[in-house]
Amino acid sequence: MTTTRDYYEILGVPRDADDATVKSAYRKMALKHHPDRNPGDQKAEEQFKEAAEAYAVLADREKRARYDRFGHAGVGSAGGGGAGYDPTIFADFGDILGGLGDLFGFSGGRRGGPRRGADLRYDLEITFAEAATGTETTLQIPREESCDTCGGSGSAPGSTPEKCGQCQGRGQVRFQQGFLTVARTCPACGGIGRVIAKPCQSCHGHGKIGQERKLTVKIPAGIGTAQRLRLTAEGEHGGPGAPPGDLYVVVHVGDHPFFQRDGDDLLCDMPVTFPTLALGGEIEVPTLTDPTTIQIPTGTQADTRFRLRGKGMPNVNGRGHGDIYVRVQVAVPTKLSREQKTLLQELGATMPNQVLEPVPADTDEERPFFDRVKDIFG
Ligand SMILES: [Zn+2]
Ligand SMILES: [Zn+2]
Repeated sequence: MTTTRDYYEILGVPRDADDATVKSAYRKMALKHHPDRNPGDQKAEEQFKEAAEAYAVLADREKRARYDRFGHAGVGSAGGGGAGYDPTIFADFGDILGGLGDLFGFSGGRRGGPRRGADLRYDLEITFAEAATGTETTLQIPREESCDTCGGSGSAPGSTPEKCGQCQGRGQVRFQQGFLTVARTCPACGGIGRVIAKPCQSCHGHGKIGQERKLTVKIPAGIGTAQRLRLTAEGEHGGPGAPPGDLYVVVHVGDHPFFQRDGDDLLCDMPVTFPTLALGGEIEVPTLTDPTTIQIPTGTQADTRFRLRGKGMPNVNGRGHGDIYVRVQVAVPTKLSREQKTLLQELGATMPNQVLEPVPADTDEERPFFDRVKDIFG
């Protein structure tokens, strides 16, 4: 799942850091935690990915602006509007490391060994109702598939790659620069050490062919915006013999007409007439399934909240359901009949304003919320 840490904190830069500072901080972080330098170190890998995620946002002017305003929730979306496909966000750290990587000889898997496939990102929009019940959907992912003709090797059937003549199979070439001997990735074989003598006709030696791939994905009930599902090995194919990348499905949940979501809890405002609040009565309130009724006690004040226990969103990890909080508001009529006006005037005359006193100011925001909750099912 995506990181919840502050992106500025991850890169260790101030919130007003300029682009160069962000880039330099990321470079340092990425070099320090690079998987090639920390083989088998899970924590370093996490930190590496976290830094890449932070950089992907902070290096992009528009994403950074949204992050500054809305936090993590603002950058889950790839600009809104329709399901999108953006393979670059997880892949672009290769480029920024490029220059240094060549010097140190460990640039993002290009070091002679086979290269792991790139991770892909898919932005999926679902409705509120789908998030509440869970859903299953089919994604069409454009990605490179291994070539059937050559089995992904890139060599024409019956032939095999030959040792690279330029680097003698080492994957690196050395040359003199002043007093220094500098090693560089072999330009002829791209560091693999072998070259394809007879390219496969179907894929022209790439070993891959671009294809649309259909994937069925189960979206668990209770999922929220910006949560990610990881589909292992469904990303881009790697080089011959290398593992494929992963596919990340980033979920965006649409709004509900009444409910506001707060984790697994749902909040809604319900207008109730003054006579019902004053005399008590029954009102109908919406839930995720069928509407239900709640009892309004005599003398109920505006802003009183009623809790419908266990009627909220299912927890995405299977830990039960949240609650629904219904907050009652006074429904003030904008149009009154002559008769209603007369009745109200008569009522008003019996309760002059002078008997009302100001309510003491509430300094604690949280307490009255829970104090005034009336349990319906509890
Ligand atoms: Zn082929
Ligand atoms: Zn070579």
